[in-house]
Amino acid sequence: MNPFRGEGEWLKAALHTHSTVSDGTLAPDRLVQSYVEAGFDIVAITDHWRLTQPNARDDVILVPGAELGFDMIAPAYPRQSAEFLVYGLTDIPEDPGGDRSNWYFSDEDNYEVRTFPSLSEGTKWAAGQGAVTYVAHPYWNQLPPHELMAMEGYTGIEVFNGSAELECGRGDSSPWWDLLLGEGREVFGIATDDQHYPLFELGTAWTMLNVAERSPAAVLDALRTGASYFSHGPSIYDVSDQDGGMEITCSPARSIRLQTEEEFGACVTVGRAGRRMGQILETDGRGLITRAFVEGAAERRYRRVVIVDEHGNRAWSNPL
Ligand SMILES: [Zn+2]
Repeated sequence: MNPFRGEGEWLKAALHTHSTVSDGTLAPDRLVQSYVEAGFDIVAITDHWRLTQPNARDDVILVPGAELGFDMIAPAYPRQSAEFLVYGLTDIPEDPGGDRSNWYFSDEDNYEVRTFPSLSEGTKWAAGQGAVTYVAHPYWNQLPPHELMAMEGYTGIEVFNGSAELECGRGDSSPWWDLLLGEGREVFGIATDDQHYPLFELGTAWTMLNVAERSPAAVLDALRTGASYFSHGPSIYDVSDQDGGMEITCSPARSIRLQTEEEFGACVTVGRAGRRMGQILETDGRGLITRAFVEGAAERRYRRVVIVDEHGNRAWSNPL
């Protein structure tokens, strides 16, 4: 499915953010207001083990969310666990059944960790609620790719996390994504700011969702079907399948990549070290690419687009 060729409306979503209900610094309604002022259309507050319910308002779509935890198969250090984001849930399980020695509560930080026995157990519980799950920041959690490979039931992974990138350089989990896609798994991506400290993190990454209507149900549908792209800078306007590759229209870019399994990807790039495995079709006044054809055979196991702007910020499409 190609959301760029559909009829829906593109909306800007904050899908991983924390309020004072867990370890964030803004109260829920203030947090929602901040996203509205920053141009967001959709907000899912994902407090740790809390279901935060800000007041409804008509200028933003609010989606119930939470960040929950699970025990890892082979943790590398004591009390190591990992996390997943749940959208559209209706309650929080009191006892998710995981290893109590991984659980943690800090009154001072208002921070709680509980765990499901595994990611698959967590996604099964979420599916029972009619909810959609994305695995949070696998690189930041040091979640080995083979553990992700062994688990099921998740719709996607958080490919880019703005605060993890800023704080410790562990924001980009796209190698995990390529490993899953290369194995033939159908897994979508999102980017988020994982905001706890609004001045530093709010709006540092986001997901664009192509929705059929402005409702929480339509947002969940878009998350479930990968009708999205995600970014910490550039925009993708159109991607179309062409003979032997794809044509992409985007905000001014230094490079456009078509990523596939193994080493079969390709790119067109302008400026120093610019290599063209395709054709530049349009540039802006400064010579940056706004439309290009990039080579990539349709027989590839998957093809996904990455836009790199002049600052090195990226936008990612799902496999198309
Ligand atoms: Zn978080």
